[in-house]
Parts: sequence; structure tokens; C-alpha cells
Amino acid sequence: MKEDERVIRMSDLRGWTPSRPSYGVVGWPVSHSLSPAMQRAALASLGVEADYLAFEVRPEELEAALDAMGKAGVLGLNLTVPHKALAAGLVDELSEEARLAGAANTVVFGDGGRRVGHNTDARGFARAIREEFRMSLAELKVMILGAGGAGRAIALQVARERAERIVVANRTVERAEALAREIAPIFLDEKLVGQAARLRAVPLDPAALAGEVDGVDLIVNATTVGLRPGDPSPLPAHLLRPHHLVYDTIYNPARTPLLEAASEAGARGANGLSMLLHQGALSLELWLGRPAPVEVMRRALRRAAG
Ligand code: NAP
Repeated sequence: MKEDERVIRMSDLRGWTPSRPSYGVVGWPVSHSLSPAMQRAALASLGVEADYLAFEVRPEELEAALDAMGKAGVLGLNLTVPHKALAAGLVDELSEEARLAGAANTVVFGDGGRRVGHNTDARGFARAIREEFRMSLAELKVMILGAGGAGRAIALQVARERAERIVVANRTVERAEALAREIAPIFLDEKLVGQAARLRAVPLDPAALAGEVDGVDLIVNATTVGLRPGDPSPLPAHLLRPHHLVYDTIYNPARTPLLEAASEAGARGANGLSMLLHQGALSLELWLGRPAPVEVMRRALRRAAG
């Protein structure tokens, strides 16, 4: 098997020297990741002679793995579950976006293995919304379900882009409230919409959601509800209306219970494949300093997703 097609583990990293310039994705587990298919297609189409490897590393091994990769001359990394928050504390420098998100999904290695952490999830999300619904976040009243890593990055981006209204709903309501407090200084100003508060934090329960759902256009699922077979929709189906735009950050399965419910309600919906595409394109641009071949990456991603 060629080096760039196998999963590389911590035991392989000790004393390892790659045969070609290398990028890669680090996860635990990692074999399900679609990033290798997408990034290899991009590198090949740009004529960059480099591998994109899959590194399977436990959280407790992440620091040693990053050190070993730096020594081996790895040029750049994507980080996926469960490493993003941890990685933010294991770099020499953090971009403003990664610092605010408290998580890094991209690392750029510099001289001597120096590491700079970035976060492209939030801008990847904004590009995905523009592409899927032909609307910018500034035009929308947005409900975000979830206040974990993805919910946080998305809420910060929605606030930065000055959406008309933000509702954060989370199972643990204290997390939604803390996130709302955090984004308030960058979001709240004189731009007011009717009587409804521009920024709300509510529990992820049917009654609270029913009270908010008619006052939003875009509903984003950033919870993990929908990943597992048999999961319910995180938003009761009867609350969806034809005018809603529904974005599920989950892409596997491609049609989650939330997206099924959106379709039944006559609402437009899209899954998280476009966010994965755009965060990956932005990472590639950070590594190479030139535009990513987005259409090549999209085709590779669709093929890999099946
Ligand atoms: P995370 O930090 O672990 O956060 C998980 C979130 O899901 C929290 O808000 C949590 O609520 C909520 N949750 C978990 N189980 C729940 C349940 N049974 N009922 C209601 N809420 C529940 O995870 P993450 O990294 O933010 O990932 C969240 C989702 O985003 C995942 O599905 C992931 O696939 C997706 N994602 C997609 C992309 C992309 O490129 N498309 C990128 C990043 C993430 P509590 O706070 O109450 O625990």
C-alpha cells in the first residue's frame, strides 16, 4: 500500500520521515474522514507534488504527534474530532478566529516545526450558506441549535457578519447563555428588529423552540443529534414552515431527520458537505497561499461521500 493511502499511528511517527512533502488530517478515529479524498484531488489538480496523509492519534498523544510531525517536516494539518479545542493550546501562535473560537481546525507549520493554529470552520460555514441559499448571513434571522465547538464558531461568525437576529438553543441552556453573553459585545448595536430581542439564548426544548421559530429564517443544526441511526430531529418537525432555510452541519448521513422534516414542510435544506468543502478550501489556501480549486474539491468530496 502506498504511504499516502494508509492510516499513520503514533507508533509509526517515532523516527518517521515522509518520502514526499506532506499535509494531513489528524483525528481519533480518522478512517471515516473525507478530507484525504478532497485534499489529494486539490493538490493533484494544482500540480503540487505532495501527499495528504491520515493520522490516527489519541488526544493524549496529540502534543507528541505534532512535535514528531514538525520534526519530520509536515507542512500543514487539518484537525478533526476530538482534537480541535486541544490543538488550540498546542500551537505557538493562534489566529484571531481560532482564538475567539477556542479551537483550531488547521495548523500551518513554519521553520523548525513552529506551529500556527487557524480556524476555517466559521468562514467555511458562511460560504456554504451563501452558496446553498444565495443569501448572506447579514440578511438573515438565525437560530443555531447547539453551543459546542461548531455552534460556537457558527454563532461568532453570524454575529461578526451582523445577522438580523440570533437565537442560540442548547440542551444545557447555561452554555447557550454563556455563548450569547460572549457574542453580545460584537453583535448588539442600534440595528433593531421589531419588538423581539435581537439576541436570545433558550433551552433546546419544544416549548422554548416553538416560541422562537416563527421569528427566524435560517435554522442551523450544530448539535450531534442526527449522527446516529434512530436519532430524532433536534427541532420538532411540526415547527418547520415553508419559508425556513435549514442547514444541518451533519453530512453523514446525508439526509438527517431534520432535513427530512424540512423537506416535508416544504422548506429548503442543505447538509454540511458544503461547510466541509469550504473549510477545507480555506485550509488549503492557508498552506499554499493561492486559490483552492473548489470545483475539483467538490467533485472529489461528492464521489467520496457516495
Ligand atoms: P461538541 O462540541 O461535542 O458539541 C455537541 C453539541 O451537541 C452540544 O451543543 C451538545 O449539547 C449537543 N448535544 C449532544 N447530544 C445531544 C442530545 N442528545 N440532545 C441535544 N443536544 C445534544 O461537537 P461539535 O464539534 O460542536 O460538533 C457538532 C456537530 O457539528 C457534529 O454533528 C459535527 O458533525 C458537526 N460539524 C460539521 C462540520 C462540517 O464541516 N460540516 C464541522 C464541524 C462540526 P450540550 O452542550 O447540552 O452537551
